[in-house]
Amino acid sequence: MIEQLKQKIEASANIVFFGGAGVSTESGIPDFRSESGLYAAMKRYYARPEELLSHSFFIRHPDVFFDYYRENLVHTSAKPNAAHKALARLEAAGKLKAVVTQNIDGLHQAAGNKNVLELHGSVWRNYCADCKKRHTLEFVMEAKGVPRCECGGIVRPDVVLYEEALDTALMARAHAAISAAELVIAGGTSLSVYPAAGLLANFAGELVLINKTATPYDGYASMVFREPIGEVLGGR
Ligand code: ZN
Repeated sequence: MIEQLKQKIEASANIVFFGGAGVSTESGIPDFRSESGLYAAMKRYYARPEELLSHSFFIRHPDVFFDYYRENLVHTSAKPNAAHKALARLEAAGKLKAVVTQNIDGLHQAAGNKNVLELHGSVWRNYCADCKKRHTLEFVMEAKGVPRCECGGIVRPDVVLYEEALDTALMARAHAAISAAELVIAGGTSLSVYPAAGLLANFAGELVLINKTATPYDGYASMVFREPIGEVLGGR
């Protein structure tokens, strides 16, 4: 079956990859929405990850937000895995036109991909909520408590929190890249929640899915893989 996917990739000149948390689990980054992530959050903070990472919680309890965020969302020592590397090779070969990702870890860029559309932002970009000055991730990680800019404002990650709107221009670019693609490979995402579900809703080209569990799009896909994504994309 992997051989068949390889042939599809060979035959296609315009591929877009659409990915979620499952792409990074093989790099040792756990999905904070998984059962164990939920358990860890409830046990220590008595709140669900979605609440801890919401805009209103960030405003009310920035100290708790950064405590949870630093420990559970930032993984500075994680390295790209076989899936990231395979996608970087496909872009270098001119076949892969864009990576659309829901991940905030920067691992696609670390692997060498250039056109990465990060729908939920990146932990690697941080800015002062007041004066907008940019700060490094190191600054945020090393600050004690709430990271503060010289101006006194809170330095926050350029990450889309729950209750915050996605960047509409970025969404439009993701839509355009997907619409223009011959082949979309979606991996490590259940495609069940916004914005993932919407981005593929009108896609009429060929779809290949790589996800451990069933997705609402399985019936539309020409191939469905349940194997680890690093194995499927990298095993060639
Ligand atoms: Zn500032």
